Amino acid sequence: MNVSNTYPTGPLQALDAAHHMHPFSDMKALNAEGSRIIVKGKGCWLEDSNGKRILDGMAGLWCVNIGHGRPEIAEAVQAQMAELSYYNTFFKTTHPPVIELSRMLAELAPPSFNHVFFTGSGSESNDTMLRMVRTYWKTLEKPEKFVVIARKNAYHGSTMAGASLGGMAPMHAQGGLPIPGIHHIAQPYWFDEGGELSPEEFGLQTARALEQAIDEIGEDNVAAFIAEPVQGAGGVIVPPATYWPEIQRICKERNILLVADEVITGFGRLGRWFGSEYFGIEPDLMPIAKGLSSGYLPIGGVMVGDRVADVIINQTGDFNHGFTYSGHPVACAAAIANLKILRDEKIIERVANDTGPYLQKKWALLANHPLVGEARMVGMMGALELVPAKPERRRFAGEAGKIGTICRDFSFKNGLIMRAVRDSMILSPPLVISHEEIDELIRLATKTLDDTH
Ligand code: PLP
Repeated sequence: MNVSNTYPTGPLQALDAAHHMHPFSDMKALNAEGSRIIVKGKGCWLEDSNGKRILDGMAGLWCVNIGHGRPEIAEAVQAQMAELSYYNTFFKTTHPPVIELSRMLAELAPPSFNHVFFTGSGSESNDTMLRMVRTYWKTLEKPEKFVVIARKNAYHGSTMAGASLGGMAPMHAQGGLPIPGIHHIAQPYWFDEGGELSPEEFGLQTARALEQAIDEIGEDNVAAFIAEPVQGAGGVIVPPATYWPEIQRICKERNILLVADEVITGFGRLGRWFGSEYFGIEPDLMPIAKGLSSGYLPIGGVMVGDRVADVIINQTGDFNHGFTYSGHPVACAAAIANLKILRDEKIIERVANDTGPYLQKKWALLANHPLVGEARMVGMMGALELVPAKPERRRFAGEAGKIGTICRDFSFKNGLIMRAVRDSMILSPPLVISHEEIDELIRLATKTLDDTH
């Protein structure tokens, strides 16, 4: 990437503070400090308004799987804009890009998935999923199967349904959340909550919390269980190996739908097209977004397994739901071009067999740092747990997240974007990252840990 001219950072920050309300940001603090202005992206690299190069260790918001600035996407978008810039998919209408994207997704997804309902984001996908599972049971004349069980510290989006399904306490504290019919159970976060149990024992224990909740609520009242294959925003919480098989068993035996929220784990993040395939999960529904277009344009959807699709299509008929931008032709064109890049350049295979294991090996060595209590990574999704005194799994005294924030700020100063989730440092780079860039990433992360220590 060419280093560009610098931008007038101060005046732009002042305008930003004057008129722009930011999502998930302490705006008072941000306006005092000045926002960070990103002006360019190419591959794994970003450039800010001061001309500083930064390695994007978060792939934007876990979405830029093919890396920034691919001209093929711009070309596909431009061509589609010229051909048909907008039309909707309501009232029995369709168009070639949405047909082609649906076909590609059915081909790429596990065999039992042959249908997709399009949305504009991951949050809308989870709203859609919630409406669909309740419609499914209602159509089968079981309207009392209404409750969806989700997990504490999960993230499923920021609409009312998304935030309700999610288990983020600060979001619920806004009031009116969660909406009725959502029940939260424990998360499989061994590092923080596993106590004296082995990870395997803890995995079984937390999975069985689902069975207990079903018993308490009554099997006849439970519609579905939703979980991310790996909790992302909660802190890259990789479940112990015993967790998913037990969840799968419980859902099958108790006749409740299983929803794998693939918004982060879909499209290669775990070295498979879908995270469910990595863990051997057989879900009924998969909300998707982010990596579907690598974030180039907003698009999401729900992959609907045959069990649910058959009922909704052949028995419900009219599912009273949809968005103006469901299957937007230009967003579909971006997604098609993105999926072709992922497929034709064998990017996901490389994550599984080459760059993924290379990064995982180097990341694991960061556990030798005195500040790191655990370094975990699956596919290209990782976390470092910052602790005051190894080998205890104890947190820093005082305010949770303080050391994480310090570490995150050093990281940015050093030219690497890592995210802090309380006192965990999170990594999720573009899937196209090379060996040399991984070496650089590890060098910058090590320097960041040294600076923080
Ligand atoms: N589900 C998961 C697992 C997510 O991580 C996110 C966003 O980070 C969402 C849903 C919501 O997606 P969006 O921000 O596109 O609405």
